[in-house]
Amino acid sequence: MDTKVAAKLRILADAAKYDASCASSGAPKRAAGAKGLGSTTGAGICHAYTPDGRCISLLKILLTNYCLYDCAYCINRRSSNVRRARFTVQEVVDLTVNFYKRNYIEGLFLSSGIVKNPDHTMEEMIEVAKRLRRDHLFAGYIHLKTIPEASPWLVEQAGLWADRLSINLELPSQQSLEELAPEKNGGTIRAAMGQMHERIVEAKAEKRRFSPAGQSTQMIVGADATTDEGVLRTSDGLYRRYALRRVYYSAFSPIPEPSKVLPLKAPPLQREHRLYQADWLLRFYGFSVDEVAAGGDAGMLDLDIDPKLAWALKHRESFPVDVNTADRELLLRVPGLGTRVVDRIVAARRHTTLRLDDLARLTPGLKRARPFLVTPDHRPTRLIDRQDLRARIAPKPAQLELFG
Ligand code: SF4
Repeated sequence: MDTKVAAKLRILADAAKYDASCASSGAPKRAAGAKGLGSTTGAGICHAYTPDGRCISLLKILLTNYCLYDCAYCINRRSSNVRRARFTVQEVVDLTVNFYKRNYIEGLFLSSGIVKNPDHTMEEMIEVAKRLRRDHLFAGYIHLKTIPEASPWLVEQAGLWADRLSINLELPSQQSLEELAPEKNGGTIRAAMGQMHERIVEAKAEKRRFSPAGQSTQMIVGADATTDEGVLRTSDGLYRRYALRRVYYSAFSPIPEPSKVLPLKAPPLQREHRLYQADWLLRFYGFSVDEVAAGGDAGMLDLDIDPKLAWALKHRESFPVDVNTADRELLLRVPGLGTRVVDRIVAARRHTTLRLDDLARLTPGLKRARPFLVTPDHRPTRLIDRQDLRARIAPKPAQLELFG
């Protein structure tokens, strides 16, 4: 590889690691020794999941880390003192094609700082995707981070070439955007999401290809004072209004030379994890934001236990539920039972009466589920009322590693 391009790749792959949509490129650099297996190259290759569940490697880079904007949480903001680089459109195309031919990657994740103006940046990103598809008949995965302030027709163009588009909301409220990303506007971002949603729905109805893997967004957590409940309420609204495929949560990490308006400390990473679990409950388990928030305290999720267990412990009057007769919706509320297990239970009980042993074969989560379930050979009425139930079933705190 040309040394100049390699130097740019190091800068622009590193700059892309703050994007949570496929977070594995944030891993430390490791090289396998003579007897070892596998390396992390630091060259911007990360993993992501396709809509059909396959894990694929993506070249994850920025077109440039120069930026006209000054978002306080971003290492690439114009006032930040970082090394800058800018790929040409053709360089990104060549890198993608070369990596693809060597079997390093199965696709491209392309984001960018804003140079000249949003339209110019968006045009260059589209040009990358267009040249890949048209000149190289590239059939791999392409994810483009669109610039919401770009003209609507450009955002629409992007959908013709990309598999997935994402428009980052970044912060859950307009007030936070005004404070931390003054050049961004929540209304403009939502309008761009609405426009994408309309085009995606139209294209599906007309059986045309247009951003077939849908759209996603990312929110930074812990850079402002928004509670978990506030974050989840914003996500819930986005899922409902724009049918987003995913909202990614990225725990704010203090960047070198941070802006003074930012907190000095990162939020616990567990907060990000609990938000993903809560998000899952909203999308696949029929929970409302109010219910999920009620499991925590003052709008914040319980960091020590998962939000489903937190809700169940505060709503013991709803349990225990009879495995053999309860509605699917109620079974989905039982800690330790996931959607697949519940579907297996519902299918199995058509033919037989399930006992504890049967459940043990259907789910590895039986230990957690036991206090909340009734079977012909198990009725935990006293267990569910015990004061120490949380201590009995909550995961024990793990010893942190001393080294590494
Ligand atoms: S527009 Fe994007 S790249 Fe530029 S400062 Fe804001 S978040 Fe960073």
